[in-house]
Amino acid sequence: ADDVALDPWGSSTVSDYRKLFEQFGIEEFDAVLDEVPNPHYLMRRGVIFGHRDYRPIAAAMRNDEPWAVLSGFMPTGDPHIGHKMVFDEIIWHQQQGGDAYGLIADLEAHSARGLSWEEIDEHARSYVLSLLALGFDPEEGTLYRQSTNREVQDLAFELGIEANFSEFQAIYGFDGETDISHMQSVTTQMADILYPQLDEPKPTVIPVGPDQDPHMRFARDLAERMRFFKVTDAFASFELTDAERELVAVAYDHREEYAEDEAMPRCGEAGDWLADYETSATEARQSAVEKLRNAGKEPLRPRVRFFARHATDEAFDALVEAIDGEKRRYESHIDAFEMDHEAAEELAREVEADHGGYGFIPPSSIYHRFMTGLTGGKMSSSVPASHISLLDDPEDGYDKVRSATTGGRETAEEQRELGGKADECPVYELYAYLLSGDDDEFAKEVYDECVGGERLCGGCKEQAAELMKEFLADHQEKREEWAEKLDELDFEFDV
Ligand code: SF4
Repeated sequence: ADDVALDPWGSSTVSDYRKLFEQFGIEEFDAVLDEVPNPHYLMRRGVIFGHRDYRPIAAAMRNDEPWAVLSGFMPTGDPHIGHKMVFDEIIWHQQQGGDAYGLIADLEAHSARGLSWEEIDEHARSYVLSLLALGFDPEEGTLYRQSTNREVQDLAFELGIEANFSEFQAIYGFDGETDISHMQSVTTQMADILYPQLDEPKPTVIPVGPDQDPHMRFARDLAERMRFFKVTDAFASFELTDAERELVAVAYDHREEYAEDEAMPRCGEAGDWLADYETSATEARQSAVEKLRNAGKEPLRPRVRFFARHATDEAFDALVEAIDGEKRRYESHIDAFEMDHEAAEELAREVEADHGGYGFIPPSSIYHRFMTGLTGGKMSSSVPASHISLLDDPEDGYDKVRSATTGGRETAEEQRELGGKADECPVYELYAYLLSGDDDEFAKEVYDECVGGERLCGGCKEQAAELMKEFLADHQEKREEWAEKLDELDFEFDV
């Protein structure tokens, strides 16, 4: 990625993202780039700069296992070249073998932005046309609207049981004035994110801008809560006997009790309940104890061992704390059990799915840089000159590029002498993010010529403007072709 020198930390807007890495555990995408079989140019050029848990996606790609990609669009205006990046990310993942989902967040547009349904319908159609024109395969993938997807709404309702108002306050700043529909649109969005896993748990990646990260963290959290319980780390190292499976099933049936015990203010009560439970599962327990011994692990006191197997980490911590004075001893046992966490997770999902649970895998995400506006500053839908709409007349697109701000010097002489500042140039961004397509050589050539002083802004913008005009004309032609086909298509999308 380094030889196409687009430095993700090069501009002030992006330097703020660094905080995300530090505070919230977003990893640099570069760290995982080598694991991706065939990385997209946005990845190679550092435009996709961060990820959360992308490794399972890369692994599924390599091993030809099921995985999915999903992203949503709020139909509040015309799709523009910033959205194209996200369209491209979905399409590329689809081409790499992922189950692809594109959704229209119409409930959100209606509740959070107050758009009328008429406006929403018009924009929704436009987003879909661009997504198709850029290469989304509707026969292989899924397109839907939040408002007409019953499964998503049912899931949103279930998720709402796990979420509460104080979280909404903390995460989204909701207060007493926030309308209920806005809150519903948040649970709907959470349901969207988990929807690809409804039939079968699988790694799912959500391409987003870094501003969407709170949604991702919340969705990952909810995915965990919907698990109800975690099967033992210890179990995972063994083949499960029928009796042990039975034990897990019983635990699933008692998930409500678990949920209540999660905060563990009533350790004693929980203990009583566990004592009952242990009687009914003696046989399974004994067999597990035996296996632990055979594997050279010292079995824990039953109650603690039970928690080590089934309880949430939180509940287990609380219990450990409650057993004052013996904390360290138990912790060392827990360490001994955490030998194969991944296998334990997988097993937990399998068993849970067998028993009607969701078994969600916390969704992964990738983060892309925002494009700088053509007039400098942020690219904004409400400032027409700052962005290029995918519906702009190609001539207007040409003009907008011609009048864009650049990273050029005051005079041609100075530019020849010092070189241009490609890293601060919205026009160079157009080349890197869009106009060069998959051609790294071309992007690099523009960059090198610019910083080397061989390229002057007039000619550079002329070339970019021509390419933009061609892109828009071509894109709009494809949109028209799809517009004709749209009605014939047999997919669940009522536009
Ligand atoms: Fe930007 Fe091109 Fe000028 Fe370099 S030469 S500063 S890339 S417009």
